Amino acid sequence: MNKKTIEDIDVAGKKVIVRVDFNVPLDANGKITDDKRIVGALPTIKYLVDKGAKTILVSHLGRPKDGFEDKFSMKPTAVRLGELLGKNVIMAKDVIGEDAKAKAAALQSGEVLMLENVRFHKEETKNNPDFAKELASMAEIFVNDAFGTAHRAHASTAGLADYLPAVCGFLIKKEIEIMGKALANPARPFVAILGGAKVSDKIAVIENLIDKVDTLIIGGGMAYTFLKAKGYNIGTSICEEDKVELAKNLMEKAAAKGVSLLLPSDNAVAKEFNNDSEKQIVASNAMPDGWMGMDIGPVTIEKYASAIKDAKTVIWNGPMGVFEFANFATGTKEVAKALAESGAISIVGGGDSAAAVEQLGFADKITHISTGGGASLEYLEGKILPGIDVLMNK
Ligand code: AMP
Repeated sequence: MNKKTIEDIDVAGKKVIVRVDFNVPLDANGKITDDKRIVGALPTIKYLVDKGAKTILVSHLGRPKDGFEDKFSMKPTAVRLGELLGKNVIMAKDVIGEDAKAKAAALQSGEVLMLENVRFHKEETKNNPDFAKELASMAEIFVNDAFGTAHRAHASTAGLADYLPAVCGFLIKKEIEIMGKALANPARPFVAILGGAKVSDKIAVIENLIDKVDTLIIGGGMAYTFLKAKGYNIGTSICEEDKVELAKNLMEKAAAKGVSLLLPSDNAVAKEFNNDSEKQIVASNAMPDGWMGMDIGPVTIEKYASAIKDAKTVIWNGPMGVFEFANFATGTKEVAKALAESGAISIVGGGDSAAAVEQLGFADKITHISTGGGASLEYLEGKILPGIDVLMNK
C-alpha cells in the first residue's frame, strides 16, 4: 500500500476535515433505518478524537437539488454518531457558511463537528475549485474515508487534496489493502464470481480479471448471453443480443489463457417473471421455448461451491439469480454459504451480493465486504479511483 494513511501524519491539535460516507437510509420520519455506514467510520473518528485532533466531518446524504432541504439534513447522522461515540457532536447549520466557519474555528482538541450536506452546493459534484478551497480553508489536513464515493472526483472527495495534505482513513486503508493485494498478488487458486443482470455492466471487470484469476464463475442474468454465445437455446431469458459476440470472444480469451470459465449447467426456469411463476429445473442445453432462466440449478450450485471450496482467494460481485424473489434466491444463498464456509480470503463487492451475505448472517465469516458498490466495481476494473489517486504517496 503506497498511499499515506491517517497514521502517517501528525493530527494532534490539528483541524482535520474527514470525508465520510454517512449516506444512510432514512424512513419517512427522518429516522435512520441502518447505521452501518456511521459505525464503519468510527475507527477513524475515534482515532482522531483520541489523538486530540479537531475533527470536521463532511458527507453527502441522498440527492438534494441545490440549497438546503431539511429532509436531506445531516442532523440525524450527527445525533447517531454522538450516541455511538458517547460524546456530543456539534452540528453546523451550513457547509461553508458563517456558522460552519465559526464552529470550525472554535473547535477544541477532541471535539467533533459535522458540516451540513455537502451536496446542498451544486459545486460539490462539479469539483469546483473555489468551493473546494472554501471547504479546505476550515482545516489543515484532509482525510478521505468515504470509499463509496472514491470513484467520483468531487470537491470533498478529491478537490480538497489540491489545498491540504491528504491521507486516507482506516476504511479506505482496509479496502485498498485487501482488494489491492487480491488483484496484485493473490493467494491461488484465485476465483472470481460475477453475476447480476447484464454483461455490459461487467465487461470491464471481466476483461481485467481474466488476466488475473484461475477460475471465472458466471451466474445471474448475464450467464444467458454466454449460453447463447455457446449456441444454446435460452428461451425468454434475459439476453443482450449485441454482447453475444463479445461473450464468445471472452470465452475464447479465457480458454487461450488457461482460465477455467464456468457457466451454469442447469437452471431454475420460470414461465413468467414473478416469484409464484410455474418453475422447473432444466439443463442449459435443453432450455424449453417460452421459459426464462431465473436462477442457477442444483448441479451448477454444486459445481460452483466446489470451485469456491478449493479457492484461496475469492472475489464475488453480483447475484446468481433473481434473488429478490424467494423462490429464485437459492443459487445466491448457496454461493454466499459456500463462500462463508471456505477458508479462502473472501471479498464481496458492495450492492446486492453484500446485502445477500449480510441478510443470511454470513457477514462475519467474510474477510472483507466492500463499503462501495460502484467504487469496488471500478476498482476491480483496474481503474484508478480519483479519491484515492489524490492521496499523498508514502
Ligand atoms: P447487478 O445490479 O448488475 O448486480 O444486477 C442485480 C440484478 O440482477 C438483481 O436485481 C437480479 O434480480 C438481477 N438478475 C439476476 N439474475 C437474473 C436473471 N436470471 N434474470 C433477470 N434478472 C436477473
